[in-house]
Amino acid sequence: MKRAAGSALATCAGLLAAAIAGNAVAFDLKGLTDKLDLDKLSEGVEKLQYATGKVPRTKEIELGEELSAGLLGAVKLVGDTQVQTYVNQLGRWLAEQTSRNQKKWPWRFGVLDTRTVNAFAAPGGHVFITRGLFVLLESEAELAGVLAHEIGHVLEKHHLQALQKSTRGEVFKDLMVKSSEKNREAIEKLTGAGMALYARGLEREDEYAADRLGVVIAARAGYDPFALLNVLTTIDSLDPHDPDLALMFSTHPPTRERLAQLDRAMEGKLDGYAAQSAPDARFLQIRNRLLQ
Ligand SMILES: [Zn+2]
Repeated sequence: MKRAAGSALATCAGLLAAAIAGNAVAFDLKGLTDKLDLDKLSEGVEKLQYATGKVPRTKEIELGEELSAGLLGAVKLVGDTQVQTYVNQLGRWLAEQTSRNQKKWPWRFGVLDTRTVNAFAAPGGHVFITRGLFVLLESEAELAGVLAHEIGHVLEKHHLQALQKSTRGEVFKDLMVKSSEKNREAIEKLTGAGMALYARGLEREDEYAADRLGVVIAARAGYDPFALLNVLTTIDSLDPHDPDLALMFSTHPPTRERLAQLDRAMEGKLDGYAAQSAPDARFLQIRNRLLQ
């Protein structure tokens, strides 16, 4: 298991390195977003600041890498550099709009090669969307909404907090001590608990919070924030008995409740940003590659 996860991570690192080194396609909507005062907009929504926790940045990154390796031990990345480059560029553009910039945080985005419809985040800044979910999307703004929701989980340290709760904080103490052996053991225990967490899902409140953050991040990046509501509407229209959807439905609050909560939180505050859009040609080209 350990070895499988390690080799999957090596593959992941190689593919993502190639993806990141690719030509810089400009997600250059900065001129537009500079004019927007989204600080006012995020009043009453969570600030785009990650909560100050006690877990040091390096430990959070290390744990995130182990959890990603665990996920990639189960499902491989799509072996198409163009696809991975695209999702990394879009994801990093979104992450740039937050308090965790790329200078200190190693944001990595990937498309997982499975029909299962889902998306995942890991501490430190790892975000994955499945091929199954990607091909259901209609536009780059919808993809931005999904990635921004996952970025929201990372910013708010939802997985770290859930792990802290489920292990009653004991393991985290070992993460903080100077002994590297104890650190290692703590990371291994937390990785095991983290994999169970992916199967169980986060708290409902964390999902609603990530939805609220997601629309703000997407708006700030120059995308129509209502696109995330479109994604939820699409998901709501799918057959809940489809085995490809079972994990997502069992690990998330009812989609209609997410839509209702998000609608209430947005309360017309984002209406002015609904007209924002990006050209969809590059999105459609990548989606076609995933449909082949
Ligand atoms: Zn979520």
